[in-house]
Amino acid sequence: MSGNFQFDTRPEVDVIVYRHRADCRFVQKEKDGRCRCPKHLYVRLTRARISAKTKSWETARQRAKEWADNHDPVILREKAREAENAITPQLIEEAFDEFIASKQAASSNPDGYKATESKYGTMKKQLVDFLHVHDQGKPDPERVLYVHQITAPLLNQWMGTWKSKTYWSKSKKRDSTIAFFDYCIAQKWIKATLEKDRGNPARGIAKIVGKKDSSIPTLPFTPAQFKAVLQACAAYDRSLATVNKAEVRGKGRRLHALCNLMRWAGLAITDAVTLQRSRLGKDDRLVLYRTKTGNPVTVLLPPKIADELRWVPPGPDAHPDYFFWSGKGKKNRAASTWQKTLRRLWKLVKPALDLRDREGNRIRPKSHMFRNTFAVELLKKSVSVDHVAMLLADHPDTVKEHYYPWVPELQDLLEKEVKRSWDEDLPIILPDVDDALQRTVGQA
Ligand SMILES: [Zn+2]
Repeated sequence: MSGNFQFDTRPEVDVIVYRHRADCRFVQKEKDGRCRCPKHLYVRLTRARISAKTKSWETARQRAKEWADNHDPVILREKAREAENAITPQLIEEAFDEFIASKQAASSNPDGYKATESKYGTMKKQLVDFLHVHDQGKPDPERVLYVHQITAPLLNQWMGTWKSKTYWSKSKKRDSTIAFFDYCIAQKWIKATLEKDRGNPARGIAKIVGKKDSSIPTLPFTPAQFKAVLQACAAYDRSLATVNKAEVRGKGRRLHALCNLMRWAGLAITDAVTLQRSRLGKDDRLVLYRTKTGNPVTVLLPPKIADELRWVPPGPDAHPDYFFWSGKGKKNRAASTWQKTLRRLWKLVKPALDLRDREGNRIRPKSHMFRNTFAVELLKKSVSVDHVAMLLADHPDTVKEHYYPWVPELQDLLEKEVKRSWDEDLPIILPDVDDALQRTVGQA
């Protein structure tokens, strides 16, 4: 009866002599200190009588305390919590292997196996190599062999050794590191905590700082390429013949509108995907952002584009305040869903997109190319660098540096200016060339 009883508070347990032996001389309560009869535990609340399996008062009292401890709800909860938080030390390399295996098991795409293995396999090797150097010459207790020994400062040191130069690859790597340690926590190789980082040491890695834009090739679409991308949007739904139709109804049209929005407003994908309807005025002006002083910076959309956006068919989880977004969850998340859609779209473009960076290396299309197209097409039409910079919320120097190389007309003018300066035997002063360039463009 007492075994399964759940006590709300610590049970009170007395030691009693249930029945004195016939020859006991200490049967009176006030004199029973020397009684050597078998002792019992008496649980007051349940009135249970349990043999203490001893004749000694002292031992019986000790057992009463133990019994109370074993049924004390506060102590039981604490024990359960400790058991819950108990970790199994796991070697770093083995932890990585299990993590990679679980990623692969969870993936429905066998082609993804290789990419996963290579991404996390590289990470594993880099961390293990780093720790190998770190551990060298250190006494055993200071060596880091298990995942639970890895700290945020150590990971920061590790990050200092990352060779990848770009913002994007570093911040992706940081995300992958966080994912790995989240897995370790779920496996109870690392203790989960109530801290903000939940005990994940990778969340303590310094946020990657850097200019996002500087590392992205600023390639625009040519007008013909952009047209082909829009045509591919029209073919998008048909390419999805095998998937649930209701889910994707109107997806191609939404995609078409989104591509146009990015191309004609210069918005980056996250801003475009989460754009509020209230930002588009009846006069087809779209508020891009507000300056620090609160003034709206607007761009005028071509009427056809503005209308397409207004009447974009809502997605399955659309929120009436937004063109494309449900308004729920993180904005980045919404953008990455559309990035996936775009990756599918690129494959549908005919003729296939042949994109090269400035060194002539093949590159994959990116959503940012719509924004680049917006900027370059404006520059080609002689809109001033200052104005383009304002629309992009970028610095004019950045715009010059990134977009001029893609506008052959501006390049030609620049060269002509340089050649003219040879004829006139004048020294070349670059800011003057820039001014001349501006003036010439203005007259064109
Ligand atoms: Zn007795």
